[in-house]
Amino acid sequence: MKLYCIGIGPGGEEQMTLRAVRALEKCDCVAGYGLYLDLIENLISDKERIESGMTREVLRCKAAVEAAKQGKTVAVVSSGDAGVYGMASLLLELCEHEPNLEVEVIPGITAACSGGAVLGSPLTCDFACISLSDLLTPWDKIEQRLRGAAAGDFCIVLYNPSSKKRTDHLRRACDILLEIVSPETVCGLVRSIGREGESCTLTTLGELRDTQVDMLTTVFVGNSRTRVMDGRMVTPRGYRGV
Ligand code: SAH
Repeated sequence: MKLYCIGIGPGGEEQMTLRAVRALEKCDCVAGYGLYLDLIENLISDKERIESGMTREVLRCKAAVEAAKQGKTVAVVSSGDAGVYGMASLLLELCEHEPNLEVEVIPGITAACSGGAVLGSPLTCDFACISLSDLLTPWDKIEQRLRGAAAGDFCIVLYNPSSKKRTDHLRRACDILLEIVSPETVCGLVRSIGREGESCTLTTLGELRDTQVDMLTTVFVGNSRTRVMDGRMVTPRGYRGV
């Protein structure tokens, strides 16, 4: 019995890998957050759906496991990559003691990569991804990771920079980074990557502090060498010796 855990990329069909498309074709049933299922509507119109809201992840994955146990080929879909703040680990945990269920994780383009391409090439060198959501990670752990990334001069990608309930997390994160990092550091914001209305903005860390963002935005903080070149955010690899 087979369960696929599929990352569908940031914007659905056009940004999926061929492997992900082929795996979806084999499925009888698809489980996921409604918005993500809508993004891949053309590929799943003939399939049964297990749909639920964003906060019902555990229920949705359990329902997917039950459907697979009944003999269906099931896909659990996440946006971006299923292993990056996605469903892959939960699904593997739920199937830990299910020897008859085979889970195949199929990678997708995570927001760090798709958003980086929109901005230019900010993640050419070492970078860290940090989620500002404290729903599953305590805030002091998030602060510890921000300080570590800042001290290491990493480019930093901030996922979940805001939500309806948490409107000040980006400002708090910027204040921590500003303890170590220059306010002139180049930053970029990308919203609705790969979807209708995609947009991006360049700014500085000092200004980012006072910028309002929503949960459909991914934030990029450059390292000490990141520059703006022809309107693009670029971290030089160092080939030209600069
Ligand atoms: N598994 C996803 C991440 C889920 S966490 C991935 O690999 O990309 C949700 C966060 O991801 C959002 O708050 C946002 O910061 C980022 N994100 C996901 N899709 C996005 C998109 N299309 N445009 C901009 N940011 C996105």
